[in-house]
Amino acid sequence: MEVEMPLMVILGGGESGVGAALLAQAKGYAVFLSDKSRLQDAYRQILQQNNIPFEEGQHTEDRILQATEVVKSPGIPEKAPIVQKLRERNIPVISEIELASRYTNAQLIGITGSNGKTTTTLLVYHLLKTAGLNVGLAGNIGDSFARQVLEHSFDYYVLELSSFQLDDMYQARMNVAILLNITPDHLDRYEYQFQNYVNSKFRVLQNMTPDDTFIYYDESPVISAELPVKKPVARLLPVSLVDTPQPGAYLKDGFLVVNDGAQEFETALADLPLKGKHNAINMLAATLAAQSVGVKPEALQTGLQTFQNAAHRLEPAGDVKGVHFINDSKATNVDSVYYALESMTTPVIWIAGGQDKGNEYDQLMSLVREKVKALICLGKDNRKLVSYFSDTVPVLFETQDVNEAVTKGLELANPGDTVLLSPACASFDLFRNYLDRGDQFKEAVKKMMDIKQ
Ligand code: ADP
Repeated sequence: MEVEMPLMVILGGGESGVGAALLAQAKGYAVFLSDKSRLQDAYRQILQQNNIPFEEGQHTEDRILQATEVVKSPGIPEKAPIVQKLRERNIPVISEIELASRYTNAQLIGITGSNGKTTTTLLVYHLLKTAGLNVGLAGNIGDSFARQVLEHSFDYYVLELSSFQLDDMYQARMNVAILLNITPDHLDRYEYQFQNYVNSKFRVLQNMTPDDTFIYYDESPVISAELPVKKPVARLLPVSLVDTPQPGAYLKDGFLVVNDGAQEFETALADLPLKGKHNAINMLAATLAAQSVGVKPEALQTGLQTFQNAAHRLEPAGDVKGVHFINDSKATNVDSVYYALESMTTPVIWIAGGQDKGNEYDQLMSLVREKVKALICLGKDNRKLVSYFSDTVPVLFETQDVNEAVTKGLELANPGDTVLLSPACASFDLFRNYLDRGDQFKEAVKKMMDIKQ
């Protein structure tokens, strides 16, 4: 008699969904993948080559609701009708991370926070790689975790975890977790309740044991307030910019000091490529994580010095007539702009704006007063920025054209000044996404370099 296979339905056919489909199929599930939009050609081909049934441009409820379990892409919100139906029927919904973690014995290093996840994840990965460890990079970044579990046998995975992924994780256990900060973001997905978002971030702790390590930024008021409530059982390693926790990691006299309880590592901050206070936090946390899995000082030193961050995060975009242009297009919320401005050592022409996410700019007032000599609003609706800053910033200019923003930036700057694109807003009013915005900015700077030099 034929035994019916359990059905794994995958909602969303991007990198993580297609990887999940491949893994589920290999593990003996019947698989059906459904995406409400069109699939990218490359992903459609993989599904076809592997004989995985799928649909695109629609969700066929009858078929989806037969699932034993569902893997949902983090981009699909809880309020989507299909998710609501699954909830009504108590069909378990998990993330790709949850699925993949069932099938690997690798040590998992999970990184979350409102800002700094990508930078810190890439750095931890780079430190482990530099030490020669057999390590994979996954989560919100790069190749699918599930597919890597299927095709590789890494000893470690460094995982960037968004709150949406954490929401659909239940049994996955991080051996090392990093929580960088929690500031308001994505509240539309959390019923506009900040506490819901906080709870989501703290899910990174679930299932950790006293053998595991929890690294967190100690001066985040939200994290400190929540720790006594959540009472983590893991070993705690704080990161501080004001105290000297031991074990833990901190700054002292221009040095990073990192001590996981087993070894201590020190290095001069000025020699390292990542700049700014926020990146000091990221480096302290990443180095602690690497140290806690046994990476030795020589590899930590080399790794920190040779690290190259992903584009669009305080990325130098070129100099024109002695004016520095910096692309921080990934700064899509107010807190990331705070750190960008904080790290500026010259007068700033600040390019900001885009799609507002319910921003409150009070946090930036004193830095703007101190460092910003002109604000260029690059967005369709700049009313909020204008109303906050028209009394604070001597010069205010509005445009919807990135080329004009760059030309105006140069015109308003003196040699030695910095023109900083750090928008505090989403990009979708004028651009495809933050990458497109950053690329167009860099292109505009490059054009000007060709003309003026
Ligand atoms: P994420 O993956 O969480 O979005 P990124 O590393 O891509 O984080 O950085 C996003 C933005 O936040 C960038 O503008 C960056 O300069 C800023 N940023 C990076 N690390 C931090 C931090 N620890 N605190 C606040 N802002 C940060």
